[in-house]
Amino acid sequence: MKRLFLLGGLLAVFSLSLAAAQQPPAAAAGPKTIDILKLKDNLYVLTSSTPGNAATFSGGNVAVFITDGGVTLVDDKLAGWGQAVLDKVKSVSNKPITRIINTHTHGDHTGNNNFFGANVEIVAQENTKANMMKMDAFKGENAQYLPSKTYKDKTTIGTGKDRIDLYYFGAGHTSGDTFVVFPALRVLHTGDMFAWKDGPLCDRNNGGSCVAFPQTLSKVIATIKDVDTVIPGHSPMQTPKDLQEFQRFVADLSTHAQTAMKAGKSVDEAFASFSVDKYPGYKNERVKGSMQAVYDELKK
Ligand SMILES: [Zn+2]
Repeated sequence: MKRLFLLGGLLAVFSLSLAAAQQPPAAAAGPKTIDILKLKDNLYVLTSSTPGNAATFSGGNVAVFITDGGVTLVDDKLAGWGQAVLDKVKSVSNKPITRIINTHTHGDHTGNNNFFGANVEIVAQENTKANMMKMDAFKGENAQYLPSKTYKDKTTIGTGKDRIDLYYFGAGHTSGDTFVVFPALRVLHTGDMFAWKDGPLCDRNNGGSCVAFPQTLSKVIATIKDVDTVIPGHSPMQTPKDLQEFQRFVADLSTHAQTAMKAGKSVDEAFASFSVDKYPGYKNERVKGSMQAVYDELKK
């Protein structure tokens, strides 16, 4: 009996330490600060968007567009970072946040819809709204923070210097990725359709496709021409040339995986025979994951 008590005590201590191990690292509870970059007098980017360090990763790059009628945000970072986003916006404008555009469903781009409240207009592509409806974060009471305005292929908000064009070109990172253009400023926000210089994440549970990805990016490049600056999902600012290079990289990767698969090779073999060397500055940390997504999508 005594031994049983001892065992029970040990088990209790073990489960406690297990629970402690599952808590987020202590650093994540520290002060939340987000870096800000000025692109134009009326356009800023909230960065601190590189994944990897839980203490500084706040979610994807957020565009802060200051219009006559209020501030529009493109994406709104991870849950828990809403106050830090608001503080930075207040440091550059005394206008209220009136609109949020969610480029896609993921929590590091939609995490503070609820923080900014039900009076803010939330806009997304219609497939993204459907994807968001499956998330726990938007169930029950929180359904009021789902997009109140959706579109299918293209829509325009505002006019003149305040104009924003939203485009959808097909599957890639998810099934509902929006490309946001500020025509007067010649700036494009790609969301995670161009997240980083590495293999793309293709979220098959949300309709993403590493098979369709290159064609989707080709349509972007053919259609959106009058742009000088590209705001990517999770890395420093880029140019249209960088986006074109990324399209070639993804096409190369996707074709390589499909050819290897047809030849009966494994994902490991496909990955081992693919080099990123001809793409300066590119990493291959996520290439195998992209190839796996191609295999998963094409397997019978
Ligand atoms: Zn994403």
